[in-house]
Amino acid sequence: MTDTPDLTGRIALVTGASRGIGYFIARQMAAAGAHVIAVARTVGGLEELDDEIKAERARTGKGEATLVPLDLTDMTGIDRLGGAIHERWGKLDVLVANAGVLGVIGPLAHIEAKVFDKVMAVNVTGTWRLIRTVDPLLRLSEAGRAIIMSSGAAHSARAYWGPYAASKAAVEAMARSWADETKNTSLKIAIVNPGATRTAMRAQAMPGEDPATLPHPSEIATRIVPLAGAALAHTGLIFDARADAFQRYRMPD
Ligand code: NDP
Repeated sequence: MTDTPDLTGRIALVTGASRGIGYFIARQMAAAGAHVIAVARTVGGLEELDDEIKAERARTGKGEATLVPLDLTDMTGIDRLGGAIHERWGKLDVLVANAGVLGVIGPLAHIEAKVFDKVMAVNVTGTWRLIRTVDPLLRLSEAGRAIIMSSGAAHSARAYWGPYAASKAAVEAMARSWADETKNTSLKIAIVNPGATRTAMRAQAMPGEDPATLPHPSEIATRIVPLAGAALAHTGLIFDARADAFQRYRMPD
């Protein structure tokens, strides 16, 4: 599944757009014509994204960005963002809930409470609050799409990855519940495991690994962006972006 959809006129909210996988998803969605609402805390990264999108627009006339510096642990900030989207566009077409943190890799018994709480706050509570905020806006789109970023860690029994693995398992469970709740609407929800990708998070997790052996985030983004369009025909499926051929599978009911 690598055909880029035409996203002209579509409003796409991408979290974690300041770097890594989210940055390239945002860039590619804008290049496909979307107006991207780019969320992250690092203003420099968002501005760099905006510069790229403006340069592309100068070449092709396509794509635009609205930058939203926001910490996803700020629940009222997320609510305010939903209100602002409703006021300006009256709907949302695409949600990419991509922002996430790894926390600390270490034995569960040694993890500090504040680290555990932060991983849950960003990955789980932040994602839930975002879903709560944009659900009504996505239902107002004629073909809403939500892409929820998970990880292979959600299904693994991997020593030292406890908090992150638990958070991603929770995100998947939440996304699957949401997909079931919305199955009779035009909204379609995809859960995506991007697989090991050359980003800051991966370098933090695996400091000894040669990043050159990993796919570039733009390559992974290219496999994920089609899910914002008609290519995503079913809701509640888990996609695995690691394979050469983009794979999908359904969890048992
Ligand atoms: P990066 O660390 O490169 O980027 C993470 C993004 O999330 C940044 O844009 C960061 O922006 C944003 N973010 C983190 N905390 C917050 C916060 N509190 N509020 C708002 N934004 C925040 O990660 P990747 O690109 O590697 O990962 C993207 C997604 O893919 C994550 O959900 C990750 O779990 C998942 N994933 C990644 C894999 C990999 O190998 N890279 C493998 C499997 C899954 P800022 O710091 O500016 O706020």
